[in-house]
Amino acid sequence: MRRLRICLIGALVFGAAIVTRGQPAAQPAAGARMKALVGGTLVDGFAGPPIQNSVILVDGDKISAVGQVGTLAVPKGAEVISTEGMTVLPGLWDMHVHTMIVGHADYDHWDKAYFSQFESVIMPAAAKQLLLAGVTSARDLGGPLEASINVRDRINAGKIPGATLYVSGPFIQHEPYPNTEAYRWGVKGPDDGRAKVKKIADAGVDVVKLIDQDQMTMEEVRAVVDEAHRNGKPVVAHSHRPEEIRRGLIAGVDCFEHTGLATAPGYPDDIIAAIRERTGKMSLGPLYWTPTIEGLLNYEYLRDNPEALDDPAWHEGLPEAIVADIRKSLEHPDRLPYFQLTAARRPTLAHKFTQLREAGVVQLIGTDSGIPMNFHTHSTWRELDAWVTVLGVDPMTTIRAATYWPSVAMKVDSKVGTVSAGKYADIIAVRGDVLRYISLLQRVDVVIKHGVRYK
Ligand SMILES: [Zn+2]
Repeated sequence: MRRLRICLIGALVFGAAIVTRGQPAAQPAAGARMKALVGGTLVDGFAGPPIQNSVILVDGDKISAVGQVGTLAVPKGAEVISTEGMTVLPGLWDMHVHTMIVGHADYDHWDKAYFSQFESVIMPAAAKQLLLAGVTSARDLGGPLEASINVRDRINAGKIPGATLYVSGPFIQHEPYPNTEAYRWGVKGPDDGRAKVKKIADAGVDVVKLIDQDQMTMEEVRAVVDEAHRNGKPVVAHSHRPEEIRRGLIAGVDCFEHTGLATAPGYPDDIIAAIRERTGKMSLGPLYWTPTIEGLLNYEYLRDNPEALDDPAWHEGLPEAIVADIRKSLEHPDRLPYFQLTAARRPTLAHKFTQLREAGVVQLIGTDSGIPMNFHTHSTWRELDAWVTVLGVDPMTTIRAATYWPSVAMKVDSKVGTVSAGKYADIIAVRGDVLRYISLLQRVDVVIKHGVRYK
């Protein structure tokens, strides 16, 4: 039924194109500002089977019609982009990135040396690297308030190239760590929590990021979550520790992050029971979880096979001196303090991932992109690859966790997240069969965002 409707919309557009062709020659053809992606197999982000020999018409920044060769004609004058031999997909989402960091191993040094360049250089470079990797939307979870908003808005206004960002601004937490006050805001009592959330909501953040809520009072946690919801902002909560999860669930957090609990073998029974209680409540909508698991699964491989660290793709947008500084910090991948426990965590990850899945959460693709060794150019495809090849998730479910579901979680599914008529034209195309070989996503051939082709 759905596909039939799509075809009808296509037929109407085609009809309009015919009428236009009858007009005087001085008029540019209706197709002149249109793009047509023709021939590839479309995985549209909905759950149905792929559409072979697809035709996608892009008019300005939107998708005007989706159909197939033979039933949906390409209007005269349209720019035709052949997608023959390719898989065509919605632009990917990464639901957990940090644009203020780009892979350097030493956060203290990074903040001291480059804070003044976050807004002008670092965050734009990260957003551009994401876009060129096929990530057309990203949730940026933790950054200085004004810089986050300004970079997001400059991208949205078309002034700089980058993934569409959904930003949290500062982390909301019990107490900022030393020298991080510019992007971590401490909460002293429920009133202060409400005031701080109101301030970032009024400034225009898209989401509220909660961390260390196990160190807050329960009244503070509730105040933060309630105030966020009163302002229409979903709450995303760090969840590495058991009590972070318990408190988050009680307060009504919308989305949890990470595959946590350090080296413990699994999530305790009471947490799984509480998650099941929550996921059983249909009226609350899905409970989302972003496992950010690839960095943990891939650390030992990267440590021993560091060629990917030499890929110049991650230099994009960064001055040479900063690139050199990052490279130096990663000289000894085996010595990075950040990852010393990772080898011991790795064997617990698949079980924890499955526990969450079986408890009914909707898992989302997100990567903690920007952390040491985890470049914005490589993290997202690696997360999809890890889900399929290590964790046994089917490719279609994995792709929907990077397209359809993120758009629903951010309440923008009427605008993006699928390749269907009326949506923004955020589309990628990759040579080969992505459903059979998911790691092909490491090299996207076509990236279109809001109708503009970037690759
Ligand atoms: Zn993070």
